[in-house]
Amino acid sequence: MDMTIFAVRKKCYCAFCKSERVVYTKRRINIFNVVAAVLASGLTMLAIWQHFDPRVMLFLVAYLALAETFVQIRWRLNIVCRFCGFDPVLYLKDSTKAADKVKITLEKREKDPASLLKRRLDIPVLRKKKPAAESPTAASLAKGRLVSKEI
Ligand SMILES: [Zn+2]
Repeated sequence: MDMTIFAVRKKCYCAFCKSERVVYTKRRINIFNVVAAVLASGLTMLAIWQHFDPRVMLFLVAYLALAETFVQIRWRLNIVCRFCGFDPVLYLKDSTKAADKVKITLEKREKDPASLLKRRLDIPVLRKKKPAAESPTAASLAKGRLVSKEI
């Protein structure tokens, strides 16, 4: 039996540190959550009034809102990488804030002695550019210039 309909978690890799992790793919409630909310509101109605009462719609709306809120908060908290703190949603909105968040997380990780026992992160390294004096540029090697006089 194919379980892809019921699979709400999926393996993926962090876009920044390339760590493998499992994320929730379900962002919104589905038909199963709606059915569960209908059943729960029906049970609540029977427990309170012992017969059909139109006020059950308030419970139905409250249960649906609760389920939607829970699913969205779970997805939003889970999408952030727990190894490096990279937040893809925040990166799409403001890449500077996402970079600051990663820096804070990496600084915390660096200060934490327990991080020595954790897996090493595969973080991209930014290399400094060589100063212009060390590397010969096209202007310093122009025709007609004596290099020996400049040294
Ligand atoms: Zn990461």
